[in-house]
Amino acid sequence: MFTKKLEIIFIIVILISLSILAKNYYDSYSFKNNAISKEYKTLIINKEREVLQNMKDNYGLSFQFPLIVTDKFQGRLYGLTSYKDGTITIYLNKKVMKESMDYIIESVIAHEYAHALMFKLGHFHTEKDGHSKRWKEICVKLGGKDCRQYVNTNEIIMSKMPFH
Ligand SMILES: [Zn+2]
Repeated sequence: MFTKKLEIIFIIVILISLSILAKNYYDSYSFKNNAISKEYKTLIINKEREVLQNMKDNYGLSFQFPLIVTDKFQGRLYGLTSYKDGTITIYLNKKVMKESMDYIIESVIAHEYAHALMFKLGHFHTEKDGHSKRWKEICVKLGGKDCRQYVNTNEIIMSKMPFH
């Protein structure tokens, strides 16, 4: 009886591990195979590098967050930052890249990085107070040109992904 119970617990643990593995695999898969042009990829990587350098210069910190380009957004949001079980991830919306790439490079990457950095530093803001004075200051210092809330909100997600 006891052994049976233990077996079940093991199976559950294995299942949980597998689902975490699958999620990690999916995340890196979607980044590597997001089928955006080489030009876009270079623009994103260069901007991220600039943001990371600004973070180091202004705050003495080096936190790189997974930056995932995906077409699984519902709606026309530029990007979002999710905080789930201690893991911070930034998503950029592939669907709006064609018409908004300039804005994404100029402002969205720093905008989301500012949310991610605040999470990392323990400022667990919600959608309502996500775009505080402190957030704005970080966004500007990280190299964001236009640091304000997007018209379409719902972009800071805690423990819940808006897509499957
Ligand atoms: Zn925001």
